[in-house]
Amino acid sequence: MSFGEAFAVVFLLLMAPAVGSFLGVLVDRLPRQEDVFRQRSRCRDCQHPLAVWDLVPVLSYVWLGGKCRYCRAELSPWHLYMEIAAFGLAVVAVSAGGDALQIWLSAVFLWLLLALLAADLIWFRLPDPLNAALLVAAVGVSVQPGQIGLKAALIGAFLGVVIFLALRIGYQAIRKREGLGLGDVKLMAGLGAFAGPWDLPLLLLIASLGALLASVVGLGNKRSTAPIGLHRLPFGAALCAAAMLLWVLRQGYII
Ligand SMILES: [Zn+2]
Repeated sequence: MSFGEAFAVVFLLLMAPAVGSFLGVLVDRLPRQEDVFRQRSRCRDCQHPLAVWDLVPVLSYVWLGGKCRYCRAELSPWHLYMEIAAFGLAVVAVSAGGDALQIWLSAVFLWLLLALLAADLIWFRLPDPLNAALLVAAVGVSVQPGQIGLKAALIGAFLGVVIFLALRIGYQAIRKREGLGLGDVKLMAGLGAFAGPWDLPLLLLIASLGALLASVVGLGNKRSTAPIGLHRLPFGAALCAAAMLLWVLRQGYII
């Protein structure tokens, strides 16, 4: 690895908590149709604009004890979780090896999965911009040396969307209500492009078992204050977690 590439990798690790912070903003604002770039960050309780030192990843949250500096309202711990998780995923991407481009692509793909997972858990929403970005990142990962290639990625994306669209239409016809959201169908474009046709059944199996396990142990967002119709499983979140696991499996850590 050249000096430039080593720099790119170190930069990735240094940036990761800030990326996690930005992902937290995306997850917080996209489902509410709010501007994610131009609007300044404000406390959700007192509306006070947040200063730069209120927004330092991890440190601000810890220093302020998880409370707003101005009104002492509790801050959502999700921002902290996103910052820590984004750093963890960057470490995973770096430890898998490859050149700087491969590592960056992997990290971006894993970060997008994290954002979609959080959005589905918190809001039951899979925002279109994140789904679209995931598809682009998944294709980018797939065309790297040693990966499944463009053709398999496109077939996987097509199959993923068609299968989920059929499930959605079938469920609606039989149960007369929405079981699978359109967001899940769109999510399957990116996940199918990552898995490819051969690993798609494995991905769906892992996600289904995970969702089943989560419902058995009573996870899910029953306590969430998000405006959602409850007693549905956030299956998109299970799919994203399964894709992360598949990514790890493919690096040969486990098998
Ligand atoms: Zn406040």
